[in-house]
Amino acid sequence: MSFKTAARETLQDAQLRRNIGKATTLIREKRLRAVAELPDWERLRDAGEAIKASAMATLPEQLERLEAAVTAAGGTVHWARDGAEANAIVASIAKRVGTDEVIKVKSLATDEIELNEALEAEGIHALETDLAELIVQLNPDDKQSHILVPAIHRNRAEIRALFEQTIARGQSLGNEASAIAEAARLHLRNKFLTVPMAVSGANFGIAETGTIGVVESEGNGRMCLTLPRVLVTLMGIEKVLPSWQDLEVFLQLLPRSSTAERMNPYTSLWTGVTPDDGPREFHLILLDGGRTQVLEDEVGRAALHCIRCSACLNVCPVYERVGGQAYESVYPGPIGAILTPQLRGLDAAPSLPWASTLCGACYEVCPVKIDIPSILIHLRGRVVREEQSKLTPEALAMKGMAAAFATRRRYEAAQRLARLGRGPLAKAAIPGWTAMRDLPEPPKETFRDWWKRERGEG
Ligand code: SF4
Repeated sequence: MSFKTAARETLQDAQLRRNIGKATTLIREKRLRAVAELPDWERLRDAGEAIKASAMATLPEQLERLEAAVTAAGGTVHWARDGAEANAIVASIAKRVGTDEVIKVKSLATDEIELNEALEAEGIHALETDLAELIVQLNPDDKQSHILVPAIHRNRAEIRALFEQTIARGQSLGNEASAIAEAARLHLRNKFLTVPMAVSGANFGIAETGTIGVVESEGNGRMCLTLPRVLVTLMGIEKVLPSWQDLEVFLQLLPRSSTAERMNPYTSLWTGVTPDDGPREFHLILLDGGRTQVLEDEVGRAALHCIRCSACLNVCPVYERVGGQAYESVYPGPIGAILTPQLRGLDAAPSLPWASTLCGACYEVCPVKIDIPSILIHLRGRVVREEQSKLTPEALAMKGMAAAFATRRRYEAAQRLARLGRGPLAKAAIPGWTAMRDLPEPPKETFRDWWKRERGEG
């Protein structure tokens, strides 16, 4: 389904628009205050952009350094070309561990490769432990609509009703947020203590030390990262940072841009395995999933600098009105409009680069200065060029026009034909165009004919 069609559907949902409008307005205002506290914010953005550009320019070297450091610290590194390979690796580890259930830290990369569905097909249930992810998971008809707050489209009353039908069946939870959160806490606590394997994503992977970082707000991630016997982390290859010191920049940029906090309540960093502390077994899966293909595009590759803060979603007038589900991807909003078509291929999502007014608000807030509007225009150009290379009706019409304008004789013949062909014939040929506009009436006599009649051959 194209973005336009999907957006037309979601635009009918007034409740969704109210929920998203309220939540994004609140986050926007908080972010502005958090960013204003730092006098060197612009310099931090410059540093973030420079570090990411340098990491991408030396990606093979950084990934090999990361692999060596993780291995030296007792971890195992796996390389996955695509989602199918990554899913198969996770499933094979779960089978070897002998579990039919894994607990999950919120992770966009695992959503991108549809890990839960792949594990389910192997008889392994993947339980989401992030509260918003759990809310979405409990309703089989629901989908994530925001990078950071996947259930942003649900209000408190809807969540309470959902819990009372599922994990708190038969209970009356009342309207207090704490009572609703408590229901989720009770549901998850037993899982943290008994499930032997966890799966996480990664915010950063430090090539220098082999350290992996996950930041979050609830502490459920920390439970998954420390309690189970086996930890599997899926990391997109673009998440690698060259040095430990780079964290200084990103641990300031990310929390202020995402949750508008000075630092994340939980910042978990681990390096391989540590005797008598945390998981006994650690696996790092490095996922390509189309990223090296994105890297080939000199303009579009900046999309790989994204640190998934979601600030661009919260300021986007298009996202605020249509919601995240219209983007039909785990990456909604402005970043989704440039990342999804590149990861999946322009053919798979050709309408997404038009899901923007090009107002530039996304560029202004992006902590790593990704020039999203310029990439959108670049991708629109690529889509148009690819369309032109196919034999679509529009491309054929353009080719015909080019041929008609090539010589005087052809041009005059085309004018005669236009006079003949106007009316039902033309309307049948371009019904979409004439549905909205009148086809201009060709003059009874062209200027050239008039000239000939009045002055003879010129
Ligand atoms: S594109 Fe920039 S603002 Fe948007 S999610 Fe990524 S890092 Fe954040």
